[in-house]
Amino acid sequence: MEIAIIAHDGRKADMVAFLMAHLDILKQHNVNLIATGTTGSFVEQAGLEVKKFNSGPLGGDAQIAARVVDGLTDLVIFFRDPLGKHPHEPDVNMLLRLCDLHNVPLTTNKATAEIIIQSLGMIKNRSEK
Ligand code: PGA
Repeated sequence: MEIAIIAHDGRKADMVAFLMAHLDILKQHNVNLIATGTTGSFVEQAGLEVKKFNSGPLGGDAQIAARVVDGLTDLVIFFRDPLGKHPHEPDVNMLLRLCDLHNVPLTTNKATAEIIIQSLGMIKNRSEK
């Protein structure tokens, strides 16, 4: 299972804490994490393996959107900061639109991410059946 993680600057620490709190579920589903560049660096520093794309403002959200279109990404966990100004807002909107178009689960805040990850925890990994 491939999960994309993206966090705006004010939410990066929250993202790391969220992932660390749910390591067992990530392992249970053999999750491959992918991330925009700076988010990925934070997660790497916490000791997790992650494939990093460009930083968001340099096209990272667009690269992840392309994986959604190609059917490679199963879930996008995005911790947005609605109070910040983001030069790459058009790319972010594109990612949200393409998740909806391709019916790929997308969370834009921590509360929804918690619900989704908890439901993943209740589903057995297909290879364990
Ligand atoms: P970043 O990009 O992880 O490189 O900071 C995230 C974003 O703002 O889209």
